[in-house]
Amino acid sequence: MKKLNIVDNSGKLFYIGGVVRDELLGRASFDVDIVYEGNAIEHCSGFGKVVRVNPDFGTVRVKIGAEEIDFASTRSETYPRPGHLPVVDKIGCPLKDDVFRRDFTLNALAKSVMTAEIIDYTGGLEDLKAGVLRVLHDRSFIDDPTRIIRALKFSVRFGFKLEEHTRKLQEEYLQNINYDMCYKRIKKELMETFNLNSQEAFERFYDEGIYKLVSPRGIVRPAVNVSEIVNIVGVRNPWIVYVGVLDLSILELTKIEQRILKDFMELRGQKFENDFDIYKAFSSVAPETVAMYGVWVDKAPVSRYVATLKDIKISITGEDLLALGIKPSKQYAEIFDAVLREKLQHPDMTRDDEIRFLLTL
Ligand code: ATP
Repeated sequence: MKKLNIVDNSGKLFYIGGVVRDELLGRASFDVDIVYEGNAIEHCSGFGKVVRVNPDFGTVRVKIGAEEIDFASTRSETYPRPGHLPVVDKIGCPLKDDVFRRDFTLNALAKSVMTAEIIDYTGGLEDLKAGVLRVLHDRSFIDDPTRIIRALKFSVRFGFKLEEHTRKLQEEYLQNINYDMCYKRIKKELMETFNLNSQEAFERFYDEGIYKLVSPRGIVRPAVNVSEIVNIVGVRNPWIVYVGVLDLSILELTKIEQRILKDFMELRGQKFENDFDIYKAFSSVAPETVAMYGVWVDKAPVSRYVATLKDIKISITGEDLLALGIKPSKQYAEIFDAVLREKLQHPDMTRDDEIRFLLTL
């Protein structure tokens, strides 16, 4: 855990949430969340140079030495519109109330900055030991359905199980989804979950009906190993490969993501007759689209493309054709294709072989 370079004897400063969980699990944590039980803006601004203040949430960013650290006031929240962002109820509430706005017991642990004591109001320590994800109250998924995807993410990341009652609450919610929800957060959680490239996440997402949060249309999970296909194609952030077959129109997709899906829709009806068809189709689209074809349509041409065809390139260029007295025209593309078709069958062809071949055309 990051050591704070401050002197504070208030006993009201706590590490909270993921950072405490990760330390207890012996894992690295990326961001450190710190709360002050009371008004953090008043109490923490003196720790260094104030960089930013947000009075609506009672947060303050302070530069201490070379580092910028965020301090939050404890706050309680309510969900007047289930599925949307909560509203702040009280800033500077008791730590206990701040803890109860959180998602799972293992994310509701606090650790005193002063004494290093762990404060556990919800049974998080026991659940952490037992490898269990448990919500803090029965309305948890109704208030915030993104927690269903967060549960999948954490359970895959840590190898944890959903506690029985929590699983029932998930099932109940998935049978009665309120689609009026904040999809920006759903997208963020989908990305974080499926960028783990986990086959287990894939199977559970479809088998448990979690996919219905995005699109109610029924879907049958193909019996393929997505994680393996993602690896052989070499997709770095594969989330869209896992979920791109759903109707994602409700998520705000970037131009690149839209292109991946559009190319996939165009490709999905295609059957390939030969290596040339495979090469032409896959070499002009993103790796995500190639992997999607492998997962949702047919793995065989993708394996063939990756293992044998992908790195084959013709050596001749327009300059070679010009030197041979062929004037630039549409014919160039036809010649390049003819040479490529030949080279895919004879990958050892040298540049001279290619020229000899094109002269026979
Ligand atoms: P990660 O390691 O994936 O970043 P994290 O637990 O640190 O996991 P954050 O999304 O950074 O996750 O959230 C920090 C803390 O805020 C969580 O540990 C949890 O206590 C709380 N939190 C985050 N998202 C929610 C949510 N949707 N509902 C309730 N509490 C949440």
